[in-house]
Amino acid sequence: MGTLLVKNTAVLVTMDEARQEIKGGGLFIRDNIIEQVGPTDTLPATADVVLDLRDHVLLPGLVNTHHHMYQSLTRVLAQDAPLFAWLKTLYPIWANLTDEGVYISTLIALAELLLSGCTTSSDHLYIFPNDCTLDSQIQAAQEIGMRFHAARGAMSLGESQGGLPPDRVCENEAHILKDSQRLIETYHDHGRHAMTRLVLAPCSPFSVTPDLMRETAALARVYGVRLHTHLAETLAEETFCQQTFGLRPVPYAASLGWTGTDVWHAHCVHMSPPEITLFGHTGTAVAHCPSSNMRLGSGIAPVVAWRASGVPVGLGVDGSASNDSGHLLAEVRQAMLLQRIAPPTHDQSEPPGGRSSFAGDPTVLSARQALELATRGGAAALGRDDIGCLAPGMSADFMAVNMNQVAFAGAGHDPVAALVFCPPARVDVVVVNGKVVVQDGRVTTMDLPPLLERHRRLSTAMIRHEPA
Ligand SMILES: [Zn+2]
Repeated sequence: MGTLLVKNTAVLVTMDEARQEIKGGGLFIRDNIIEQVGPTDTLPATADVVLDLRDHVLLPGLVNTHHHMYQSLTRVLAQDAPLFAWLKTLYPIWANLTDEGVYISTLIALAELLLSGCTTSSDHLYIFPNDCTLDSQIQAAQEIGMRFHAARGAMSLGESQGGLPPDRVCENEAHILKDSQRLIETYHDHGRHAMTRLVLAPCSPFSVTPDLMRETAALARVYGVRLHTHLAETLAEETFCQQTFGLRPVPYAASLGWTGTDVWHAHCVHMSPPEITLFGHTGTAVAHCPSSNMRLGSGIAPVVAWRASGVPVGLGVDGSASNDSGHLLAEVRQAMLLQRIAPPTHDQSEPPGGRSSFAGDPTVLSARQALELATRGGAAALGRDDIGCLAPGMSADFMAVNMNQVAFAGAGHDPVAALVFCPPARVDVVVVNGKVVVQDGRVTTMDLPPLLERHRRLSTAMIRHEPA
């Protein structure tokens, strides 16, 4: 791959231990690894490829920790429904998903993420009707050039057994475990700078059995792959868990072995203080999905309390049917704004007369803290030590935004905060694993118009219950 020199940025945000921001900073990259970070005049003068990024803010590539990319085929449906009613509307439509739909929707969702500055994404595919495979998703990610954690999801607890999904979208548990093992053995790369990793991810407490949760955890630990699921997303789920298992969602997950440094849960909106402490002590991570939580009226997650308890926190856009945007920089903005209207927790009462400033206030997130969730936080949630910050020895994943545009006028004195406060930008340059995948605001590895046309036809067919 050779060498790549990035020079003359307006500011380079390292997100390293010291949170250095370097005016006029640059990077020197050899193959897929960062060799030097610093002011441009301290770097080699040339390289095989040179990117002059004057007027650009450069950040580590963002990390998306929760998504359902197939849902990009079914946006803006069940517009006014909370989670369970939303799911019940969508399950019969999702039953029409095909393997081609998995492949095309993944390419489109990954393109959308790339254009928002994301360089690593997980995806939680938990529905396998018709001829669907996870293999097609992995192929799509490899073709477009995204670092990808493919989560083999599953549903096995159908309506006839007291679960939420219709029986016809559920799978046999022995098959789920066998396919999980096959996928790990075929695709999982343990190594540093890995582009493809496998994750095991039964869908949720109301769509799989406790046995599948336990057996999946055991299988994942044999292979050293991570575990992921939905947890404590809504009060309706809490009621379901208490009625079905006699436990709240977090103690239920803990009783099945689903805590630890190899586990991250999506949402976790409804957690008690001792449950937050448990996650902190065990190193159990969370994926915060603010837009989805607002869209479905699920609640406001205790992000500030998580951070105070040492819980690793990443950001997720969540599926395209409940966001309905796969724009990770937009999610950073939502995360920052939402915490400012979160009610104070038990030990953080509002001062008389209200707050006079958010600066240094431990009950809110600053713009930079919100960006931290999407970079260092996401890397921690995915269990990676090679992404999330820019430093020698790290993977060469970064994104850059040209600040010379209308949306940022007047914000030039703090371009880093501008990326969060001002309208979510479409990024100009993205490099993943040392390779340029977005240049001049366009994906270079795919021709998007024919893919969008195919995506449109697949989407229409699914929603109308017709063959594509
Ligand atoms: Zn989800």
